[in-house]
Amino acid sequence: IRAVKEGKTEVLVPVHEEGVSFPPSAAPVFYNPAMELNRDISVAAISVFAKILSERRNIPVENIRYLDALAASGIRGLRIANEVGVHTTLNDWSEDAFELIERNIEYLGLHDRINASRKNANVLMHEERFNIVDIDPFGTPAPFLAAAARSAVHLLAVTATDTAPLCGAHLNSGIRKYSAVPLNNEYHAEMAVRILLGKIARELAARDRFMRPLLSHATRHYVRTYLEIGNGAKKADRMLEQVGYISHCPSCDFRETHAGIAVHIASECPRCSSETQLAGPLWLGKLHETDFCGDILKELEKTESGTKEQAKKIIELCRDELDIPVFYEQHLLCKRLGVSASGINELIDTLRSCGFAASRTHFSGTSFKTDAELDEIESIISMLR
Ligand code: SAM
Repeated sequence: IRAVKEGKTEVLVPVHEEGVSFPPSAAPVFYNPAMELNRDISVAAISVFAKILSERRNIPVENIRYLDALAASGIRGLRIANEVGVHTTLNDWSEDAFELIERNIEYLGLHDRINASRKNANVLMHEERFNIVDIDPFGTPAPFLAAAARSAVHLLAVTATDTAPLCGAHLNSGIRKYSAVPLNNEYHAEMAVRILLGKIARELAARDRFMRPLLSHATRHYVRTYLEIGNGAKKADRMLEQVGYISHCPSCDFRETHAGIAVHIASECPRCSSETQLAGPLWLGKLHETDFCGDILKELEKTESGTKEQAKKIIELCRDELDIPVFYEQHLLCKRLGVSASGINELIDTLRSCGFAASRTHFSGTSFKTDAELDEIESIISMLR
């Protein structure tokens, strides 16, 4: 055991002896320093959301109940309790983890604001409701989503590290876990986010509840999303209108979205007549709220974290990216056209000067989003060669 400082919080975590406790999931209590960036963004995001709850719903910050359902050392929830000030429950069914959580509560002297719990997370989430529920599992969150969809009153935050099933690299695993078919193509990172959100939307709908994504981001290692939650069958119906399919032409890169859970979709590409591929059901709606991202940026400005600049860059890109499915990969389009790529900013500026909406995307540095048709994109790329 050693103490590490993340953000403003010093926490006791297990020492990972080389060769003994790698991967981190093999250690008696899990701690992954590589997730500091994810936790830094979480602290900022939950701090912003706690302010929204206290201002709009008159819930004092110290009365907001936050659950870290799969807490391990507790580092995520300990930071939220210490740096945001909400009332926190740290839960983990492992005895080693529970003992370390108790030691950490003692170490920080935060008994008044933190409960330790040693339950199956699903049992706890079926028993109790929390204003904010955070699911940060090994791999897939799928086994926890039904209970989390019940327990989260105002905000549900979910991490998924099973990017291979989510983005179609492990197809059958993805189908089993998310009851959806992903496509493993150039926009697989966005595919992963939309498959996860589609699954969560359907879990919420089963309970006459709905979600509004505030922020969703993806790296090679994980997907993370923050969803505002509300109640109501009609609103759940409207949310489900944003769940559907993407048909994709592997020959010419044409894509089309089809909203609805059961829809007729022609298998012929309307552009080049090749056979299209189908992904879904998945989330076709917005991934981010601009104001929420802007407020997170202000919050990150105040932090002392080592990942501050990286975190700010991700959130800035999320704030500014067009919220339409799905991004184009510039190099792939150029290869298909047999031309060399211009700078991504030059391409975006040109699309804009031609009257289209266009933006970069946090998913990839060589990709862009636009409302231009593929024919128009191709002629602009060819013009810039
Ligand atoms: N949130 C932690 C962090 O930021 O360092 C990491 C959590 S770790 C990836 C997942 C934890 O979930 C493990 O400590 C494991 O013991 C716990 N766990 C797995 N299944 C569980 C279940 N059904 N109920 C409670 N805890 C569970």
